[in-house]
Amino acid sequence: MLSRLKQSLAKKLGLGSRKEHAPAARPAVRIIPRGEHGLSRSNISESALKVLYRLHKAGYEAYLVGGGVRDMLLGREPKDFDISTNATPEEVKALFRNCILIGRRFRLAHVRYGSEVIEVATFRAHHEAGEEGEGVMENGMILRDNVYGTLEDDAWRRDFTINALYYNIADFSVVDHTGGMDDIKAGRLRMIGDPPSRYREDPVRMLRAVRFAGKLGFRIDEASEQAIQELAALLEEVPSARLFDESLKLFLSGYAVETYELLRHYRLFGQLFPETEKWLRYEEQHYPRTFVARALDNTDKRLQDGKTVTPAFLFAALLWEPARKEAERLRQKGEGGLQAMQQAGDTVVARQVKRVAFPKRFTLQSREIWEMQERLTATGGRRPFRLLEHPRFRAAYDFLLLRAESGEDVAELAGWWTRFIEADEAGRQELSSGPRSGGGSGSGKKRRSRGGRRGKPRQTTPAES
Ligand code: ATP
Ligand code: MG
Repeated sequence: MLSRLKQSLAKKLGLGSRKEHAPAARPAVRIIPRGEHGLSRSNISESALKVLYRLHKAGYEAYLVGGGVRDMLLGREPKDFDISTNATPEEVKALFRNCILIGRRFRLAHVRYGSEVIEVATFRAHHEAGEEGEGVMENGMILRDNVYGTLEDDAWRRDFTINALYYNIADFSVVDHTGGMDDIKAGRLRMIGDPPSRYREDPVRMLRAVRFAGKLGFRIDEASEQAIQELAALLEEVPSARLFDESLKLFLSGYAVETYELLRHYRLFGQLFPETEKWLRYEEQHYPRTFVARALDNTDKRLQDGKTVTPAFLFAALLWEPARKEAERLRQKGEGGLQAMQQAGDTVVARQVKRVAFPKRFTLQSREIWEMQERLTATGGRRPFRLLEHPRFRAAYDFLLLRAESGEDVAELAGWWTRFIEADEAGRQELSSGPRSGGGSGSGKKRRSRGGRRGKPRQTTPAES
């Protein structure tokens, strides 16, 4: 309470910890009444509505906030529904039987309806948080006292104006403290407060800027944009586990191509995938560029078609250029094809996970996809039949197709596999018999020789046929 008073006094005097986020003259709050905004209750999930109504009936303020409101105002399908209230987590818990409190430092209530989880957060004031849901105070008492705030506080601590719009269940109006509604209309992504300070506080906001710009097709406003170019290197300080979570959102949300282009434009891509960036810059023939773009396009299309995408395939694709270059280097030193690929996988994965912590269960699969690229060159005898049974076959074959489409020298090999997959048993026998069974277009390149047979090409590899 005391600190609250101190804070408001400091605010009046223009002093205190909030000065950089609280410009002297904050615009007056705008209330957009029901009927003057495009947000309709019919688009809100039943469960979210239940939570909002129950909080409201119990005498608390209750608002829908964040991405859900933003997406609905844009006529898009919201991904999830977050609720903001002046009820404390304990008070929320007392209202809902199906509620658990999570988070040690900053407590959030999760209300569960079947598989749907509605997150309910108490209004928060700004604090030097490194991450959503994390305060920096060590001591629980201080944390509580400092962190809970009013709706206005809660609005100003958010990242972008378009993410700080509140749908009020009491009268169905939208509450806009930061000018988000105008930005929604203008298609503009604007950081709340002073962009450099906000990025310094939490560098992941730079990635979020690009993610929302990519997804919504919004333009990042000048001040928010300029700061990104200056501060991109701050991402080095972000824990690799958080960068993994964020990378999945960047690349597996259905807008990977746009997002990737923006990431490169703002020099953020190299912060996440430095090795790949190196090759993207270095390569004069545009192969790696085409390959990554195609792989991401493929990912977006799969999501559009309701198919699954895996972080393993994404990782394999993003890191293919470093992996294949490293394998090539090892082969030139005399290593066999498969061993070279395996070792290259070791090296590339070890380096990459320091930046973006892809868990082992994914990188193991990515490496299998890479190794399969070597194995797939064996198109004679029983081998192709066995490969067909491999759990990673489908992914590896898709990967091979992408390589071929991107101009790597494997088009004939990919064609062979397509024919093999489509053929009946007799057709497959025929395809896999005979010395010239393979379809590789490369002419006897050493790199296609397999592990354990250094420099001694075998008949069955398409490279030699
Ligand atoms: P989506 O869920 O569609 O990816 P979102 O805007 O809902 O987008 P979330 O990560 O779910 O993003 O966060 C919910 C809200 O919390 C955001 O809209 C924003 O208001 C706030 N928020 C999230 N991350 C941050 C951050 N790093 N800094 C400040 N505010 C944040
Ligand atoms: Mg969200």
